[in-house]
Amino acid sequence: MAADNYDHLFKVLLVGDSAVGKSCLLMRFTADRFDEVTTSTIGVDFRVKYLDVEGKRIKLAVWDTAGQERFRTLTSSYYRGAQGIIFVYDVTRGETFSDLESIWMKEVDIYSNVEAAVKMVVANKVDLESERQVSKQQGIDFARNMGCLYVETSAKTNVAVQQAFEELVLKILETP
Ligand code: GDP
Repeated sequence: MAADNYDHLFKVLLVGDSAVGKSCLLMRFTADRFDEVTTSTIGVDFRVKYLDVEGKRIKLAVWDTAGQERFRTLTSSYYRGAQGIIFVYDVTRGETFSDLESIWMKEVDIYSNVEAAVKMVVANKVDLESERQVSKQQGIDFARNMGCLYVETSAKTNVAVQQAFEELVLKILETP
C-alpha cells in the first residue's frame, strides 16, 4: 500500500441550511458524482481528497454536517481545528442566503478557535438561473462585507466546484 504522503492536512467545513446542496458539493468534489435524490446525510462525517496546489500535496478532509444543521446549531467539535469554512446557500431560496448572516456566521463567531479560519461563501445551484432569488451582486457584496471569498457553483452541472475548493486551499496556504 502506498504511504500517505502529504505536505499539509487541512480540515474544511461545509455549513449552511438544509438542502442547499452541501452533500452534493462534497460528492461532486470528492467523487465527481451527482445523485439527484440524496437522503439526509447520516453517519458520514467527512470525505478526504488530495489536491496538488502550488507544488504542495494537500490532504483535504471536508466535513459535512451529517444533518445536524436542521437543529440550527452544530457542535463545537465540528468546528474544532478547521482551517477553512464554506458557507453554502441556495440561490433559488432567499432565506438560505439571509440565514448565513443571521445563523451560520454568528455561530462560527462563537467558536473563537476558528476565528483565523479562511471563509468562503458559495452560491450553489446556479444552473437554476430562471428560479434565482439572490443575484450575483448581492452574493459578492455580502461576501466582501464579511471578509469571505465568493464562488458561484452548481454541484449538479459541475460548475466551479473544484475551483472553489482550490481557491480556498490557496488562501489557507497564504494565511500565516
Ligand atoms: P444538504 O442538505 O445541504 O446536504 O443538501 P443536498 O446535497 O442533500 O441537496 C439538496 C437537494 O438539492 C437535492 O435534491 C439535490 O439534488 C439538490 N441540489 C444540490 N445541488 C444542486 C445544484 O447545484 N443544482 C440543482 N439544480 N440541484 C441541486
